[in-house]
Amino acid sequence: LSDRLTETFRNLRTKGRLSESDVNKTVRDIRLALLDADVALPVVKTFTHNVRERALGAEVSEALNPAQQVVKIVNDELVTILGGETRGLRFAKQPPTVIMLAGLQGSGKTTLAGKLAFWLKEQGHTPMLVAADLQRPNAVTQLEVVGQRAGVPVFAPERGNIAGHDAVGADIEGTRSHGDPVAVSRNGIAEARAKQHDVVIVDTAGRLAVDENLMQQAADIRAAITPDEVLFVIDAMIGQAAVETAEAFLEGVDFTGVVLSKLDGDARGGAALSVAEVTGRPIMFASTGEGVKDFEVFHPDRMASRILDMGDVLTLIEQAEKAFDRAQAAEMERKFLAAEDFTFDDFLQQMAAIKKMGSLKSVLGMMPGMGQMKAQLDAFDEREFDRVEAMVRSMTPFERNHPKQINGSRRARIAKGSGASTSEVNQLLERFGEAQKMMKQMAKGGMPGMPGMPGM
Ligand code: GDP
Ligand code: MG
Repeated sequence: LSDRLTETFRNLRTKGRLSESDVNKTVRDIRLALLDADVALPVVKTFTHNVRERALGAEVSEALNPAQQVVKIVNDELVTILGGETRGLRFAKQPPTVIMLAGLQGSGKTTLAGKLAFWLKEQGHTPMLVAADLQRPNAVTQLEVVGQRAGVPVFAPERGNIAGHDAVGADIEGTRSHGDPVAVSRNGIAEARAKQHDVVIVDTAGRLAVDENLMQQAADIRAAITPDEVLFVIDAMIGQAAVETAEAFLEGVDFTGVVLSKLDGDARGGAALSVAEVTGRPIMFASTGEGVKDFEVFHPDRMASRILDMGDVLTLIEQAEKAFDRAQAAEMERKFLAAEDFTFDDFLQQMAAIKKMGSLKSVLGMMPGMGQMKAQLDAFDEREFDRVEAMVRSMTPFERNHPKQINGSRRARIAKGSGASTSEVNQLLERFGEAQKMMKQMAKGGMPGMPGMPGM
């Protein structure tokens, strides 16, 4: 997904203005990229529709160039679909908090049980695992191994509490597969309560494809134990089947959150988008490997940038957006090219923009031809800016637009009003006059680089 979009944006980035046909072409590229990443078609349609509307709409930012705008819109839409903000686990007021896992066989539930338990344990919780997958002969054993790795006890059927139990010897095929997963879940939670475990994670059975019995079993477990969270675990590599699977589980069991597993593979992120959009449930965690620590809290914004693969661009955009007023800049440029007089009002506007930007250096760095001035900038005392601004603010609008008309008595008044000395005012006016002259010369094509900023 990333490569393709990056290419699309690279093509855009060099352009000055974004026409409707540019938008259409970009949206077409995004559509292909998403389909390529196995995002489900209805999701792609909604997504591209939203991006297109927004790109053509009036909300277009003054601060960004067109390509940056599209990147930002795509990013915003991705974050929105992915759930906006990270949602954490909801813990029960009365422990134990019960977390039930559901999903297809092989999706990564049992592995996740260990990861989640380990993660919770690190945060000071005292989790316990419950083996309610009695479908496959080895499922209980597998969970016990996982529990050992995570260093948490496992409750399994027929043997009661099995913490640290020698699992292998006791795993006789047939004895467990006929157990009652609902009863085991219930007993497991009772056990956890008795032993004061504050979180219980219930691992359930899955099938390779969605089937009704499985769904009913999961629904029964859910009804019996009323979990605080039901986490739907889905393999990120599942591709186009993601929507169908997620919808089946949503209807059959219902879930409160999603865990994306196997994000370490070459999953292209499509499943994440599809499931989040179609179910409206937050993606809460990501599984990124087979180890007990290969697990992370899911961050929609990070996932979006990962999909876009352009973290730097996004940061830049945020900064630029904060401050820069494009219309203002255009007006400045127009005046400059028309060799009109640069006024103190223009100067104030520039100062305001620079202040919003935070650092003088970053603003000047963005201007063409300012590279050589870096050393001077480093030595610049930003406080002098405030003194200069105070003097300009003490001028009347007439004076700001007609600096040459500022005579002796006006200078004295400005000095008094701003707390500066008359000689400081004189200096400012003198330098400002020079800057004006220089800008005119440059506008006529006389000198390379940018004019000296008045007041510097
Ligand atoms: P379950 O049937 O839903 O319980 O799935 P399992 O937890 O047994 O996982 C099925 C297989 O996928 C196992 O071989 C796991 O080691 C592997 N697996 C689970 N999660 C991940 C993951 O995040 N990344 C990778 N690479 N493999 C995983
Ligand atoms: Mg399992």
